[in-house]
Amino acid sequence: MRRPLVAGNWKMNGSSAMADDLTAAVTAAAPPAVEVLLCPPAPYLARVAAALAGSAVALGAQDCSEHAPGAYTGEVAGAMLRDCGCSHTLVGHSERRQFFGDTDARVAAKVARAQADGLVAVLCVGETLEERRAGRTEEAVGRQLDAVLALPDTGAVLDALVVAYEPVWAIGTGETATPGQAQAVHAWIRARVAERDAARAAALRILYGGSVKPDNAAELFAMADIDGGLIGGAALKADSFLAICAAAAATAA
Ligand code: PEP
Repeated sequence: MRRPLVAGNWKMNGSSAMADDLTAAVTAAAPPAVEVLLCPPAPYLARVAAALAGSAVALGAQDCSEHAPGAYTGEVAGAMLRDCGCSHTLVGHSERRQFFGDTDARVAAKVARAQADGLVAVLCVGETLEERRAGRTEEAVGRQLDAVLALPDTGAVLDALVVAYEPVWAIGTGETATPGQAQAVHAWIRARVAERDAARAAALRILYGGSVKPDNAAELFAMADIDGGLIGGAALKADSFLAICAAAAATAA
């Protein structure tokens, strides 16, 4: 049985006050059956880490440099994220791929660097609307996934990896993949990983992301290969985020 994971991606939103309030509310009510992960913007990581001390809620960054510490102005190294209390980092979010030049090769390098620094990488993959309409969903997702599966020592990579399937057309748009659409891609991803390592594929957590809300979370999380969610907009309010966590907990019962 894979333990459900629900991750809140605050994107570039928030303030110190919001970080304090949201973290306090989430730690007070996060269901133990679910692994809960908060991914605030980098300036708030240390603050949120302090507020999470002693709780089971984990801390993740939204991105991680592919470089070791050094002369890379503006970048944040995985070692620094660990030092600030992160256990996870998102890698390859579609907004990074779309606006900040994260190619498949760079995303793979970031995964390798993050894992070398002791972080679990939450690898985001997903097709654009054009790719879906052209029947190229598997090709797009496969390309993004294969770049990471091609890293040396696939077994070790999979041991510190979570995959988040996020169809680009569903992120922040209010459009959600139907449970059937999402399940089909999740099953395809698991089968693709199983070609390399069947046991680790069975244990791999594959999250769905894309306009998950309290009113659609339960039907998505009920799917056999959906192991939780990566939540954007609905992670900015404690009540909606906790309702989504509760929907994930119900699948673990
Ligand atoms: C995300 O930011 O990864 C995301 C899925 O956003 P939203 O839930 O707002 O679609």
